[in-house]
Amino acid sequence: MNNTPWTIEDAENTYHVKRWSDGYFHINENGHVSASPEKDPNGMVIDLQHVVEAIKQTGLELPAVVRFHDILRTQVEQLNETFAEVIDEVGYNNRYMGVFPIKVNQMREVVEEILEAGEPYDYGLEAGSKAELLAALAYNSNPNALTIMNGFKDEEYLRLSFLGRKLGRKMVVVVEQFSELELLVRLAKEYEVRPIIGLRVKMMIKSLGKWKASSGERAKFGLSISEILKAVDYLKAHDMLECIELLHFHIGSQIADINVFNEAILEFSTVYCRLAEIGVHIKYADVGGGLAVDYDGSKSTNDSSRNYNLKEYARSIVVGFQQVCERYNVPHPTIVSESGRAITAHHSCIVAQVVDEINPADQHVDVTPQDAEHFFIKHLRDYKQRLEEGADVQSIYHSISQEIENTRSAFKLGMLTLEEMAKADTLFWQILEKLQRAIGSNPDSPFELDEVPERLSSLYLINMSIFQSIIDAWAIEQILPVVPIDRLDEKPTKLATLADITCDSDGKIDKFIGDEEIVNQLPVHDIKAGEDYCVAIFLTGAYQDVMGDMHNLFGRLNEVHVYGLQESESGFYIEETVKGTSKKRVLQTLQYSSEVMIQLVKTQMDSAIRHGVVKRQETSGLIDYYEDCLKGYTYLEV
Ligand SMILES: *Cc1c(COP(=O)(O)O)cnc(C)c1O
Repeated sequence: MNNTPWTIEDAENTYHVKRWSDGYFHINENGHVSASPEKDPNGMVIDLQHVVEAIKQTGLELPAVVRFHDILRTQVEQLNETFAEVIDEVGYNNRYMGVFPIKVNQMREVVEEILEAGEPYDYGLEAGSKAELLAALAYNSNPNALTIMNGFKDEEYLRLSFLGRKLGRKMVVVVEQFSELELLVRLAKEYEVRPIIGLRVKMMIKSLGKWKASSGERAKFGLSISEILKAVDYLKAHDMLECIELLHFHIGSQIADINVFNEAILEFSTVYCRLAEIGVHIKYADVGGGLAVDYDGSKSTNDSSRNYNLKEYARSIVVGFQQVCERYNVPHPTIVSESGRAITAHHSCIVAQVVDEINPADQHVDVTPQDAEHFFIKHLRDYKQRLEEGADVQSIYHSISQEIENTRSAFKLGMLTLEEMAKADTLFWQILEKLQRAIGSNPDSPFELDEVPERLSSLYLINMSIFQSIIDAWAIEQILPVVPIDRLDEKPTKLATLADITCDSDGKIDKFIGDEEIVNQLPVHDIKAGEDYCVAIFLTGAYQDVMGDMHNLFGRLNEVHVYGLQESESGFYIEETVKGTSKKRVLQTLQYSSEVMIQLVKTQMDSAIRHGVVKRQETSGLIDYYEDCLKGYTYLEV
């Protein structure tokens, strides 16, 4: 047994913070998680536990989303600076101009922060729908920055781009289907606007991972080589060839393997150069999204990871283009990318309280031996005794696992009473706990016995909805780092999986970052009566923030927008709080009217008075209570 005292470094290693946090999160000497939004431990530091205390002081309840705006700024700066650095290092003859794809996090405050941080770099926006375009038109006001329009388009979508053109903005309509081009040309003539046209290439390369359907023959988007040639001829015929200013590809999100990018850039830059050869001179080469986030911290080609860093990514694109352009003797294009996930994932986390513990081993029936006990109970008692006398743990584990299965079958066939079944269950869990102690932390124990701590582990019930707040953990088994935010100066004493408060057995988190692989349990501390125990789920700023659904009518979370402030004692201030959805508003979205509901309850109350079930003087209190509840938060009050 290792009896050296528990250190903060042990906590960092247990939760693998260094591996996944990309320098943004640490564990501080108080045993709290803290953020370094500038990636500089000597710079701005924000203690998450202190943020949670501040949240409570403002009267807001948990669960809550905590947004670190300074992280967004750092991410935008890093992306732009890294491209600039690589361009400078390799002598590439053009610049980088990124855009942020709004769909990854449409929150106005997020979009505003990104645009403000990106202003010096002419960082723009990408929209994929009319609603997103309306937001981009209003907020992306830098005339030098691009507004890139992807997704399926109708007349209204295209006319909105003309509006932008009239405002002097760089609106690029990316043609995904040939039919869109015909519509665009017709409308451009009708409204006398010179559009900026982008062509999306349907890539031959097959990407991997969860988004592989974004490329290859059956991809939903993009023009094949022959369609591109047809588009070129069509635009030539309409005297609009020079309107093609951008070439685009996007082969899916979270590209874990850099080699996929390397190959994609080779294919894409070749198309670019071949077009130049036939007189189509394109300004911008837009390499889409896909820049991955290392959620599980393994630096591998796992779906939740990436085997490269930002610098390598930028080099893959810049050097890739440089080499191919030089081979064809074509000028270097301006490089555009549409990274969303990598820009936003780190900036927000969810903090939720553990509200209860469910432990299968928590069975406390009296098991003192009695005369004429059922033989199943006798067998279990014998195994317990043999274990106490030092029998081989693995063989006892086999025997009791078999025995309890048989006992449960026998119960179903009517051979045991309720009391007998309860006794057998209690004995089984007692033996399993003894086995656990016997195994201890023996590194030589058989792998099979790893099941024992798993079977004994608790379920920690957390006050949130997986479906609202981290839908990808359910939908695509996205791994997200989870860490208790406090007591990290104490050794965790238990293992637990996490379950949410929806009535759905899928509403659980049982995939965590382990030392070498993904594990099913998270090390946790005992819950103490009268004390909050909170966990934070990190890297939720991309997609999770905005894609959730209302399963069980749990609405959006309370939210705080945090800024670092070195001169203040706490090191931060909360600039804005946004209240989560009330029950009334959640119900409204599904056509319930709170007025009608209150009226219906009143009608039933009248009838209850008539039948003498409630007293007249009680009714107004009860109805007020119902009304009050409608106004409140959808999550548990703890
Ligand atoms: C979704 C999407 C993006 C964003 O991709 P990330 O992997 O999140 O960076 C970029 N471009 C297009 C066309 C998209 O559909």
